[in-house]
Amino acid sequence: MNVDLVVVGAGFFGLTVAERCANELGLRVVVIDKRDHIGGNAYSSVEPETGIEVHRYGAHLFHTSNKVVWDYVNTFTSFTDYRHRVYTTHKGEVFPLPINLGTINQFFHSAYSPTEARALISEQAAEGAVATVANLEDKAVALIGRPLYEAFIRDYTAKQWQTDPRELPAEVISRLPVRYNYDNRYFSDTYEGLPVDGYTAWIERMADHPNIEVRLSTDFFDLDQEINIRDTVGTVPVVYTGPVDRYFDYSEGPLSWRTLDFEEEVVQTGDYQGTPVMNYADTDVEYTRIHEFKHFHPERDYPADKTVIMREYSRFAEDADEPYYPVNTAVDRERLLRYRERIAEQPNVIFGGRLGTYQYLDMHMAIGAALSTFENKLRPLFATDAP
Ligand code: UDP
Repeated sequence: MNVDLVVVGAGFFGLTVAERCANELGLRVVVIDKRDHIGGNAYSSVEPETGIEVHRYGAHLFHTSNKVVWDYVNTFTSFTDYRHRVYTTHKGEVFPLPINLGTINQFFHSAYSPTEARALISEQAAEGAVATVANLEDKAVALIGRPLYEAFIRDYTAKQWQTDPRELPAEVISRLPVRYNYDNRYFSDTYEGLPVDGYTAWIERMADHPNIEVRLSTDFFDLDQEINIRDTVGTVPVVYTGPVDRYFDYSEGPLSWRTLDFEEEVVQTGDYQGTPVMNYADTDVEYTRIHEFKHFHPERDYPADKTVIMREYSRFAEDADEPYYPVNTAVDRERLLRYRERIAEQPNVIFGGRLGTYQYLDMHMAIGAALSTFENKLRPLFATDAP
């Protein structure tokens, strides 16, 4: 093969690396992906009956405070001024998230000022306080007190993780802020928005370079491929963004993941829930949330009498399932350390992305990590290789 670099996986990490190597260094890059589309989990496509863009692997909201990443992504797409907001249904009543003064006042049927609300919550947090914060429940109770924890966090988390919150690491909810004002923006980042003409158009532009060849429906591990891409390992550098345990044939044991199931439905009504994402905090329904995609793009000319909704369910992944979230148990972390030792023995292969590093990465994190990998590893590597 006439190629300088092989990239396994056409998600944001892989395509950022491919784009930089082709554009900046003039390298010839082959990107393979076992799926029949590019974009990894950020892929979206149009639902044919309604024309509404559906994020096929769950809602993807772009946000970052990293100026380098923001400037980079803006070379491929412009962004709308979408600001993500989420509501949650608890005992038949709708509350704003993340937990803020509006949520607190509604929950306690009160009109507390920020100072009064802080005093109340710290009193409730003190009641449930433990000496050392050892798990998600301890952390949540310390942050918001037991009543709010039990209403909005405990059962949602149990549904999403199928694990007792007392057995989950505290970091799982570190993404969720608590605000003592009425600001209910979900993200606190400097930059936020959705790609004006959709995720797939953005991602296609990243791959659109004469030096980049994308081969879809091509599995790195399928030895019956016409051209065995695995043979390139050892001859050209490989950037591998597939599951790290799969690469080593699960030699250290499988890493555990949670997967999501999506149930999509076209509903013959103009507006199903009045908001893009509605969480369901209680165990009376099995899904964790419902996405209604037309609300991500109020600026678009979508039909007034139809809508697309997607119910999201969460469960432990089995062999054939798509991995979404690393479960990250103590056993997983131990195995990951051993895989990292094996990675160190593979100087010709760079592991990256969510699957390749067994890390939950937001889109901007995957892109930021890929830009660093390009600057710190690939650029020097090809500089020394140059004749
Ligand atoms: N969470 C919760 N209730 C909610 C939303 C989130 O308890 O209504 C907790 C839950 O443990 C979840 C974590 O916060 O796993 C992170 O939620 P987020 O919505 O940020 O995660 P996403 O699945 O969207 O990446």
